[in-house]
Amino acid sequence: MRLKPLVACSLQPVAFLTLFLRATVFLSSASPDERLLEVTPDNVPGVVLEMRYAMERNITRKPIYPDGKAWLRRETIHKLAKVSRNLEEKGYRLVIWDAWRPAYAQKALWAAKPDGRFLTPPNKISRHMRGTSVDLSLADKSGKILEMPSDHDEFNAKADEDFSDVPKEVAKRARVLRNAMFAAGFSGVPDEWWHYDLRDWANYEAIETK
Ligand SMILES: [Zn+2]
Repeated sequence: MRLKPLVACSLQPVAFLTLFLRATVFLSSASPDERLLEVTPDNVPGVVLEMRYAMERNITRKPIYPDGKAWLRRETIHKLAKVSRNLEEKGYRLVIWDAWRPAYAQKALWAAKPDGRFLTPPNKISRHMRGTSVDLSLADKSGKILEMPSDHDEFNAKADEDFSDVPKEVAKRARVLRNAMFAAGFSGVPDEWWHYDLRDWANYEAIETK
């Protein structure tokens, strides 16, 4: 009989720990800001997430993000959904390499490559911090990531929009992506075939991490 209270007592820390873990899981899956929505196959059909800054496969050689989730403004997601439907008809799926980028990530990237020709210095606002920019690649129908002109953040001549220095098939894919993005209302930049912005990106403020 005297054991019962002891058993009840020893369960309390476990129950507390369970509640704590649930709260932690809830917090980690919450949006970092009310202006940002998570990109999922529900709002961008067929999307393949390969968030490079959540992996070691980036210029810092270590994960910067706590998880592989992609966050963007509603307007950006809405237009990406159009792109995704357009590409699906052509047998492709969108791959996301980066989306909204918090300031701490921009700082980490700058520390790895402090070169204003390729990256925005931390004292300026990167377009990615506005939730209006996205780094993309292409996958086939099965989700297999396809060869494109260069790797993400590969800062050389293959990354620019002159695709004459890459195999014809690869150049064709990069143009398919570019045409689909332009048709949906995005603009690109000449030196990075993977980077796209909402055309009116300058009207949106930066979103800082809380
Ligand atoms: Zn970019």
